[in-house]
Amino acid sequence: MLSLPGDRATVAPFQPPALPLDRGTLGASPPTSPPALRQCGTGTRKTLPNGSRIPYYCENHWLCPRCSKRYLRDVAEWSHLMLTRAPSALAVTLTLGHRSSTPIAEAFEALYEVKREFHRGGGWSRLMNTHGVVGFQLVTEFTFSEETGPHPHFHGFYFSKQASSFDAESLADALVQRWVHSAHRLGYEASTGSQSAVIVPARSRARMASYLGKDHADNWWPHDGRDTIGSIRRRAVHLDPYARTLYDELVLATAGRDRTVTTPNLAGRLAAAADSRSRC
Ligand SMILES: [Zn+2]
Repeated sequence: MLSLPGDRATVAPFQPPALPLDRGTLGASPPTSPPALRQCGTGTRKTLPNGSRIPYYCENHWLCPRCSKRYLRDVAEWSHLMLTRAPSALAVTLTLGHRSSTPIAEAFEALYEVKREFHRGGGWSRLMNTHGVVGFQLVTEFTFSEETGPHPHFHGFYFSKQASSFDAESLADALVQRWVHSAHRLGYEASTGSQSAVIVPARSRARMASYLGKDHADNWWPHDGRDTIGSIRRRAVHLDPYARTLYDELVLATAGRDRTVTTPNLAGRLAAAADSRSRC
């Protein structure tokens, strides 16, 4: 059974244990043993060839409290900048159906497989052309509950050069339909009701962009009653054996996997789109 070592009111603020540095886990192949629950960046130095010593960062964007927090904060800031440059944008949540018995790595693999299917082929090109899609930025989040199982999902933005809200609404519909079709084509469950695509109003850009920064490993509050990477990590640090099992599964599920997926040269593409609009 999952059980917190105490409730929110009684748990002391989490202090990561001062353990020796671990190597990053973003290798090409999964590590044979899970990394220790270690942190990096403070009190940890790396020696450069010239002899100077600098703080060492493992750059594990999933499991390292420091590196994931820093990375997702940068992603959120950058997304905010892209939102200010796009004529219109949709904030999306894309997800698959899940079961309690599904291994975490399998849930991740399914999600990424559908993502690849979604963004390829003539159907995707037509959708981009029809709705003026310039690019996108997706971030993977993860929640878990014993009842419903692992729930990796994407949050992010699709940027369009079309400015009217009518166009944005039909794009929202097209994205959701295509996601569900892509999932079904590969034999996975997805329902239109579980996806969301909403227009980003100018006044909400900062808030909606900052949402992408929340699922870092130093954020140990459960989300909507579900565990997160941070809450699982925290309980694993406190030697909860069930959380440690989940953490070890997460290590394997995330090894070598990108935390974000972004259209190459998105900033340049948005600039080119703005340029062509100003010439019209
Ligand atoms: Zn790190």
